[in-house]
Amino acid sequence: MSELPHWIKRRFPASGGENMEILLRSLGLHTVCESARCPNIGECFGKGTATFLILGEVCTRNCGFCAVKKGRPLPPDPEEPIRVAQAAKALALKHVVVTSVTRDDLPDGGAGHFVQVIRALRMTLPSATIEILTPDFQGREEFLEIFREDLPDVFNHNVETVPRLYPTVRPKAQYERSLFVLERFKALFPSVLTKSGLMVGLGETPEEVLEVLSDLRHAGCDIVTIGQYLRPSMKHLPVRAYVPPSWFSFYEEKAYELGFWGVASGPFVRSSYLAERFMEVK
Ligand code: SF4
Repeated sequence: MSELPHWIKRRFPASGGENMEILLRSLGLHTVCESARCPNIGECFGKGTATFLILGEVCTRNCGFCAVKKGRPLPPDPEEPIRVAQAAKALALKHVVVTSVTRDDLPDGGAGHFVQVIRALRMTLPSATIEILTPDFQGREEFLEIFREDLPDVFNHNVETVPRLYPTVRPKAQYERSLFVLERFKALFPSVLTKSGLMVGLGETPEEVLEVLSDLRHAGCDIVTIGQYLRPSMKHLPVRAYVPPSWFSFYEEKAYELGFWGVASGPFVRSSYLAERFMEVK
């Protein structure tokens, strides 16, 4: 794809937050900010926020857009929950976002480990709100039930793209299964905000994006994020289009018309980018 458009160019490169990196390394923690090469890392680390990546940095799946390592993950680290809580406390986070790679190799898909992290955060930082951005847990409701013990404030699971593109973008995922996970979590735990997100610029049509927004609303989703796909490396899927900011405004307008409580739509929007803002207006 040719020259980057001006609305993308402005923000590269982004660095900053050296203190954040020192803290993360000292506690042996990973962030999806680093693993996924997020363009907002300088801004977020500079502000002292980050999205913790638990359950290791090796994923059992192979999404075509994602820079996270693929392969055979190590066993979960039982000390990780308390270290995440220590880091969140050291950063005095008001809103803590925790995500993970997909662990299809674990008997509960990693749900139990997420609950341990939520519990450690509730004990260490009782005033903070907690958002978890999870895999699809293979659509197994019994794994969602595990969260009944310690619920997050926001349950986030991304559909990532439109169903037609799943075979190339998310080959080991299923669109209907991701909708099911969001719909079931909302039905099981109505007090928890549910959230999802998608990237544009992978070849989808505007009509397909609007259909996804409508499907998410039918699944009871409260918050949606829409951002521009950016290619992490030449090994990853090509960018099919740089979507102009006016289209992000159009999607935002349509999303609010569909009844979403919260919408973040823009070229640099990512699942947990400025996630704390939704908590401020809750
Ligand atoms: S499941 Fe998540 S972490 Fe794994 S490859 Fe896909 S997007 Fe990346």
